[in-house]
Amino acid sequence: MASYELLRERLDRERPDLDLDLLDRTFAFAEKAHRGQKRYSGEPYIEHPIAVANILLDLNPDVVSLQAALLHDVTEDTEYKLPAVKKEFGPEVARLVSGLEKLSIVKVPGATKKHETWNKLFLSMAEDIRIVFIKLSDRLHNLRTLQYVPQEKQARIAEESLMIHAAIASRLGIYQFKSEIEDLCFRYLDPQKYEELSKEFERYKKKAQPVISQAKKELQKLLQESQIPFEKIEGRFKHLYSIYQKMQKKEAEALANIYDLFALRIILPDETPHLYSVLGLLHGHYLPLQDRFKDYIAVPKPNGYRSLHTTVLGLGGEDNEQPMEIQIRTLAMHQEAELGVASHHLYKAGERLTQKEAKMRREAERILSTIHEFLNQYPDKKVDLLEWTERYQQMSLERRKEIENWLLEWGMPQEDLISLRRARSRGPLQFQGQLDQQRAWLKGLAGSSLAQMDLDLYPNQIFVLTPHRDVLELPKGATPLDFAYNIHSELGHHAVFAKVNGRIVPLEYELQNGDIVEIGSRSNAVPRRYWLSFVKTNSAKSKIKNWLNRQERERFIKIGRDLLNTQLNAIGKPPLDERLSLLKDYGAENRDLSAREELLETIGNGALSPVLVVKSLFPEEETRVEEKAKKVPSGVPNEMMSPRSDEVLITGEENLPVQLSSCCRPRPPEPIIGFVTRGHAIRIHRQSCSELSGLDGIRFVSAHWKGSNNTSKSSS
Ligand code: MN
Repeated sequence: MASYELLRERLDRERPDLDLDLLDRTFAFAEKAHRGQKRYSGEPYIEHPIAVANILLDLNPDVVSLQAALLHDVTEDTEYKLPAVKKEFGPEVARLVSGLEKLSIVKVPGATKKHETWNKLFLSMAEDIRIVFIKLSDRLHNLRTLQYVPQEKQARIAEESLMIHAAIASRLGIYQFKSEIEDLCFRYLDPQKYEELSKEFERYKKKAQPVISQAKKELQKLLQESQIPFEKIEGRFKHLYSIYQKMQKKEAEALANIYDLFALRIILPDETPHLYSVLGLLHGHYLPLQDRFKDYIAVPKPNGYRSLHTTVLGLGGEDNEQPMEIQIRTLAMHQEAELGVASHHLYKAGERLTQKEAKMRREAERILSTIHEFLNQYPDKKVDLLEWTERYQQMSLERRKEIENWLLEWGMPQEDLISLRRARSRGPLQFQGQLDQQRAWLKGLAGSSLAQMDLDLYPNQIFVLTPHRDVLELPKGATPLDFAYNIHSELGHHAVFAKVNGRIVPLEYELQNGDIVEIGSRSNAVPRRYWLSFVKTNSAKSKIKNWLNRQERERFIKIGRDLLNTQLNAIGKPPLDERLSLLKDYGAENRDLSAREELLETIGNGALSPVLVVKSLFPEEETRVEEKAKKVPSGVPNEMMSPRSDEVLITGEENLPVQLSSCCRPRPPEPIIGFVTRGHAIRIHRQSCSELSGLDGIRFVSAHWKGSNNTSKSSS
């Protein structure tokens, strides 16, 4: 396959440090899996993963990332599934491939305004930053070939890419990807404007080119004369979409009014970075524009960008009246600006090994993975082995032999051992790299080995989707009920079941990143007190509490009204009217309706005696009230008047911790039933209590009043 050969040549040239045979095998696997499939363009499908690997190569990937790039569409689109990939290439490759597959459910609805939340969903589902790098490469190639995709899909894909992929590339500082993705999206989202602007820009570039070359020459001469070493001077045009954005913000009506359509970059060596001397030199020779100097080295941009920026007049030949922006940075800063986190996350950018070094490193890696297997089998040997790699040369011969014997016994090939021994005895000079690597690696085993690549950007949040693919941000540990209350209080109050990714789950289920959540509700369902024990968000908690308190209040008001009416009736007075007018002046206060209800609530909850209230309302009736009061039947929700909990037998046993439920206030000889609460107390309800229908049947136990024969049946 010609294009794989091209990729392979580039790998030979740029990355001899990688295990290229392994990549060949991975390619063969992917090629076989995709055989017969075609892209929209009519090309064989395998061209796509090859192109993705090629794009990814700009980000200095490790070999596992490149393998995953080659395999990224295999599990979704072919008969080869994840277990096959894992069996063939190991768990790490499989993990990346499955992460990429999972990410494909992120499809942003066209009209959403929650870009930032979608970005977070994307990043938090990725788990490993390498997955993001591969996904961005994948998307970039899909955009490069978007003209072949059916037209009705183009705009949606472009919109999504602009919102998600370009924004993420920007956030991670991968400017090179961001600008290309944005320009490609722009082309499909506003073809007319794109066409217009790009034509105008081309004309501008043609005109500007000689000025730029002239300016470069002048700068080169200036630096050489001042004996300042530099890597290179390059000119870079702004990308089209950023110009478009500038014009949209009305910062400029026309292209010609934008100052910084291109910038010159002076890139200095990392070892001798004369950043500020170069700046001084420029300002001494050309006229700097005021307010255009920016020191992003003293104060880097939030995404980590570092450079000195200045704009000067008088550069680029005598005829040039345009100001020119110059950026001064070191090579490392430059690589960071282009590749962002990718520049320091994987192999160090710029680290290019010779063939021989690369071979040595591969050898060391192979031996290390053999030792890794050994340690998996005998984890207790870790300490010894660590000592061995660190102190080999000072170690006693006996101890050394002992450790080597384990390794041989376990099955480590003799030649690996010899080459390790050689590495030890040669010491730091030739093998410093491997030694450091081995030490770091072994130490890593003691901690969390492969965790360095983790992308834990949002350790306390998860992101889940509604059935309409709207995205919600919740705290880690949130449940479907939190989700329901987050959408609407009413949905929470009436929730009866939850579905996650199409499967019914308990309301206590812990939601995971990327779950698609659906809530089933019933209009007559109501919140349960035990929900408070597992909801995670404060807003759900307070909504449930408020609802329960409101219910309670209404019940107490009703009880208070009944109690007061009983007293009124006893002395031959009419019951309370709708407006509770009788209570208007109670306690010499001018009470509004809510204050009157409050009074009833205090009576209802037992804090205030209805007898006292009636006495104070009708002082002349005092004696009659008191007489009648003695005959008031039980029903006052005062603890003193309630049946005592030690009057209850649970499955025939006494003295178990029981509470009489406040919802139905059971009293003898009403048939009752027990319910084991989450606090492992037993709550007693009337068997007729309406709350029972909402409770978990498995938690019911039989209960009856002491001294009665009225035993209830367990319903479980
Ligand atoms: Mn793909």
